[in-house]
Amino acid sequence: MSGLRRLGRWGCGARRSGGSRRTRSSNAIWHGGGCTRKQCSRRPRLSTRPWVAAPRPADASGTRRDRPRRDDAPPAARGCILSTMSSSADVRDRPSRPPLLHHDPLAGRMAFIAPERAERPNDADLVAVDAATDPGTWCPFCAGNEHRTPPAVLRAPAEASRSWHARIVPNRYPVATEADPRDDDGGAVAPVRPAHGVHDVVVESARHESTILGVQPDEWRDVWHLCRARLEMLAARGDLAWATIFKNSGPAAGASLAHVHSQLVGLDFVPPSIRAELAAAAADVTGFARLIDDAVRSGRLVAEQAGLVALAPPAPRQPFETWILPARSAPLFHAAEPAHVEALADLTRLLVGRLARVAPGADYNWWLHQAPYGDHGRQVAGWRWHLEILPRVTSLAGFELGTGCHINTLPPDEAAGLLRGA
Ligand SMILES: [Zn+2]
Ligand SMILES: [Zn+2]
Repeated sequence: MSGLRRLGRWGCGARRSGGSRRTRSSNAIWHGGGCTRKQCSRRPRLSTRPWVAAPRPADASGTRRDRPRRDDAPPAARGCILSTMSSSADVRDRPSRPPLLHHDPLAGRMAFIAPERAERPNDADLVAVDAATDPGTWCPFCAGNEHRTPPAVLRAPAEASRSWHARIVPNRYPVATEADPRDDDGGAVAPVRPAHGVHDVVVESARHESTILGVQPDEWRDVWHLCRARLEMLAARGDLAWATIFKNSGPAAGASLAHVHSQLVGLDFVPPSIRAELAAAAADVTGFARLIDDAVRSGRLVAEQAGLVALAPPAPRQPFETWILPARSAPLFHAAEPAHVEALADLTRLLVGRLARVAPGADYNWWLHQAPYGDHGRQVAGWRWHLEILPRVTSLAGFELGTGCHINTLPPDEAAGLLRGA
């Protein structure tokens, strides 16, 4: 599985900076050549867990009645709040053309029409504008450039007096905003309506790392603790039906900025993919248990840790597609015990590392599927949250887009065997 390296926009930045052809998968793009910026130096690791209870900020006015404020964090489920939050976190840029949700009744498809996302920056633009090669001078996610993003709604460690290594900030170019939420509890059937919800960016390192493998393992675990806490916060709002975390790693996966980050979106409706999975679970509550049993029997199990399993799904869309899920029923990730959160962090590192060995340079996406919030998740018996990791080894072409079916050249049991041995 060679020849997968690509030079995209990020390669252009590298050539500007280094004057030599270097691949995006190498940190040398950002850190090589004797760079002396402060983000390049490895800071001492914290010897203790950074999570501490954070004071709740003073209340503020101007919020919609009955709608929990962004800083209405629920009490920590296990005795630790993972972040600080400031009331200024509610101050986000208001798009002049807020995103709208368009519904196609024939296809049952929804599209977020978000014109302002066309203005979001990419690495090449930022380098060109700043005419500098040091990402510390232009990257909005690097430590020292916090003023280039809205204030954090969560950070780790919690204490503002300490340097952060992960933070969650509102997305300046959201696909959903604090528009009026829907009033009904059905599907998104209005032809066009405001896209109500939350769209955050999870900045996964203070340093300009381009891969999660460059993040310290304990700090990577903190990223997932932070995400879990944020999903719990969104559940407590009451106006959202469902939320997810997703990652676009690399240009082929849709990333515009190289600095390691993922995104978190909360919506006021349950999207079609989740509705379909819920319907399947309602028809067969043993589906997830059988998924794991079948994977074990057919050689598709890739790894296990602390009650989580990683497996190649029975009908993978791409070579080396893997899913991570609990061995026992657990519909909501934000209710996961800390050991499961950390096992998920460890397994994602493991799988991304092995993917880099079996498919060097492959971009990938992942997304979290968990049950809907509150009443929206009534039919979740037997359902389990899961993270689907989809390498972008081949392009989605006309057949895939036109049929919803996929053509994959690598059988899943063979892919699992290669990943186990990588
Ligand atoms: Zn950066
Ligand atoms: Zn799923």
